[in-house]
Amino acid sequence: MPAEVATKVIEIIQRNYNVKSVRVERVQDINFKAGQLLQVTLQNNPQLKHYLSISSSPSEKCHLEFTKKLSQSDFSKAMDALKPGDELQIQYPFGKFTLEDNPAGKIAFLSGGIGITPLRSITKDVVDRNLGVDIVLVYSNRSVKDIVFKDDLSAMQKMYPKLRVAHVLCETEPGFKCSVGYINASIIRNEVSDYKERKFFLCGPPGMVEAMRKMLSDELLLPKEQIVTENFQGY
Ligand SMILES: Cc1cc2nc3c(=O)[nH]c(=O)nc-3n(C[C@H](O)[C@H](O)[C@H](O)COP(=O)(O)OP(=O)(O)OC[C@H]3O[C@@H](n4cnc5c(N)ncnc54)[C@H](O)[C@@H]3O)c2cc1C
Repeated sequence: MPAEVATKVIEIIQRNYNVKSVRVERVQDINFKAGQLLQVTLQNNPQLKHYLSISSSPSEKCHLEFTKKLSQSDFSKAMDALKPGDELQIQYPFGKFTLEDNPAGKIAFLSGGIGITPLRSITKDVVDRNLGVDIVLVYSNRSVKDIVFKDDLSAMQKMYPKLRVAHVLCETEPGFKCSVGYINASIIRNEVSDYKERKFFLCGPPGMVEAMRKMLSDELLLPKEQIVTENFQGY
């Protein structure tokens, strides 16, 4: 059962030019699974309410984090104005986009832009608990400056040999290893050659998730049991 609690902002982290993470005090007796989401209400105003994935992992005991792409919406403006010490309401946990609900020993994450948030949570949990799950994360962005959690992903890759991050960008960047274009069947064959053995977790705006689901199912002939999706409605 999701619980609703008041909590306080501990820290704000600018992830890139238009993405911010907010870390709040974690209420220790409310458990969640990596990949789940929360609903946050700002300024006690029911108009300023959004579902956001939890971008921290249960293994990070000192804070709970959510991460949003800032737009011109009232919610985004209110989130952008948050500072340490501010109070907000959160209700959690929700959702089944988790390894516990979709177990597998070998997985592939396909994501674009802000769709990385629950995948960062799951990856961090696997790395911190050394779960042995083999992960390939195929992460697509317009350019290097759009990549969210870039250093964090690269640090986790160094710590955990069974994690490989394959970046996909719309343009090449000198000195940065990536595929160029949108995620497609040929990039998957190249970057995830054992794709038939993996469970795929897709996360992002609904249009992107549907395009990737169709590609995996129609072009790479993966059965639907091997595809798990999370749609970020609202983009
Ligand atoms: C399961 C889930 C997880 C999400 N996780 C994240 C996350 O980690 N980070 C993140 O940045 N965003 C996430 N989102 C999207 C987020 O909830 C907002 O919809 C998005 O951030 C746009 O909000 P906004 O304030 O910028 O714009 P808004 O002005 O609030 O929304 C833009 C447009 O989308 C519509 N809209 C907003 N929310 C929804 C919705 N839930 N369903 C259908 N239409 C909607 C609005 O009516 C408006 O027309 C998630 C959404 C879902 C459903």
